[in-house]
This record gives sequence, C-alpha cells and structure tokens, in this order.
Amino acid sequence: MKCEVCSAEVEEEELHRCPICSKLFCDECAVDKGDKKFCSRFCAEYSFYGGPEPED
Ligand SMILES: [Zn+2]
Ligand SMILES: [Zn+2]
Repeated sequence: MKCEVCSAEVEEEELHRCPICSKLFCDECAVDKGDKKFCSRFCAEYSFYGGPEPED
C-alpha cells in the first residue's frame, strides 16, 4: 500500500489513517500529538486547537 503523504510503498500495518483528513500515512510522516497520530503538523494542530472531531 502507499502512503498518501510521501507516496512511499509501505506495509498495510505500518499505515495509519488521519482522524482529521482520512489520509493514509506511514510512520515516517506521522506527527504525534497527545496519544494520537496525524498525517501532518497541520492536522495535528487543527485537532489540538479544537477543530471538530469526526464521528466514528
Ligand atoms: Zn509517508
Ligand atoms: Zn491529516
């Protein structure tokens, strides 16, 4: 599978889905914020500053 941020080919278990924009991203691209991972600093800060939480 492919990281949608850096386009690297990575195993499916190494991909995470961003809770903000739903992109798939790899460990290399992951930005940790609290106990969550995001695809980018933009999404991490969007969440941190109280953006709307997507419903599960
Ligand atoms: Zn990546
Ligand atoms: Zn994102």
